[in-house]
Amino acid sequence: MNFPLRSSTSQLRSLVWNRREFLRLAAASAVSTTFTPALRARGVGSFDRRKVVIVTFGGGARDEETFAPDAQQNIPGMIKTLLPQSTFFGQVVNHGILGHYVATTSLATGVYETFNNFSGVAPPHPTLFEYFRRDLSRPAHDAWVISPSNGFRNMGGSTARRYGPAFGAGVILPKQLLEAAAPGHPTNDFDRLLRDTYEEPHTLAAQTAGEAELRQMEEILRFSRDEFVHHALSLDSADELSVYVARQLMLQVAPSLMWITLHDIDVAHSGAFSLYLDGIQRTDRLCVEIWNQIQANPEYAGKTTMFVLPDFGRDSDGDPAGNGFQHHRTGDAASRTTWMMVLGPEIRQGAFVQRPIDSLDLVPTVGRILGFSTPLADGSVLPEVV
Ligand SMILES: [Zn+2]
Repeated sequence: MNFPLRSSTSQLRSLVWNRREFLRLAAASAVSTTFTPALRARGVGSFDRRKVVIVTFGGGARDEETFAPDAQQNIPGMIKTLLPQSTFFGQVVNHGILGHYVATTSLATGVYETFNNFSGVAPPHPTLFEYFRRDLSRPAHDAWVISPSNGFRNMGGSTARRYGPAFGAGVILPKQLLEAAAPGHPTNDFDRLLRDTYEEPHTLAAQTAGEAELRQMEEILRFSRDEFVHHALSLDSADELSVYVARQLMLQVAPSLMWITLHDIDVAHSGAFSLYLDGIQRTDRLCVEIWNQIQANPEYAGKTTMFVLPDFGRDSDGDPAGNGFQHHRTGDAASRTTWMMVLGPEIRQGAFVQRPIDSLDLVPTVGRILGFSTPLADGSVLPEVV
């Protein structure tokens, strides 16, 4: 099912034109200070050497608060560090349902899924993790999802025949780990980390935190309960906890395919503009941190492609059906037209791609990079990436 854009062509054109202009201006003033490893010769599809990290935001941010000239101070990391090293797609259109779980899962299957956003069910179409593991005979520990939303627990594997969780990604839910690791702790110590994200899918029955989560932490992430709780106390947000867990996972397990979902920006639903801005600034910092962790880790440096993309956007101020930055329910151009940044050793740096691409193009593109096929996914391989 395809949901049409509820906007005129001229609205869309001006949105994309503005984004290109904003970034042209930013590029002119940006100085990249980050060392980029030299390109090394390697064949496409040599999965044992190449890795992919995908970072999605659950709840995008509008250009008014990010790429517009007087808002770029909110995203210095993207503008000064990531943008000069990336190929930037300025027009990524999401034609699906604008709810975070169903939209993020659609990004992972390459099909616009139509299940109830709040159901928390496994998708009916295979995820990229299943294609990856089944096609390339990769072990379970080579594909992971990290999500601050407990309702995302089923996004790692589908109900599709011949695929399914046996080929899926492990899903780490840091908030649930924390609940399991700190049962006696006063709840208010972790309120900022455990607060439910807006639009949390219903947590399915009999999935409370417990021994399984602690075993996952101790066996996979190899840190102790005390160490984990101690670190959590020093962090400001659920997204920071996720990035901390991602770093441990990269150091201990070094998966070839890792997906991190960030959700702090979506605090915008509360209507507090200052918290929304805080979320944008933190997300910007965390994206740079993830990229720096990739560069600092010999298992990843020089062989990792990173994708950064919001699942979709937010409403514009002008649409009478919406309430500006707060929600994403109008289906207007601003809420459907987002962007994507791609970085990696074989990615053209400082390039802006103006042509429209589809949110679903992610899965076949990652498949081409890692060398697996994606027979049931829609979307197309992006020639600007691979
Ligand atoms: Zn939202």
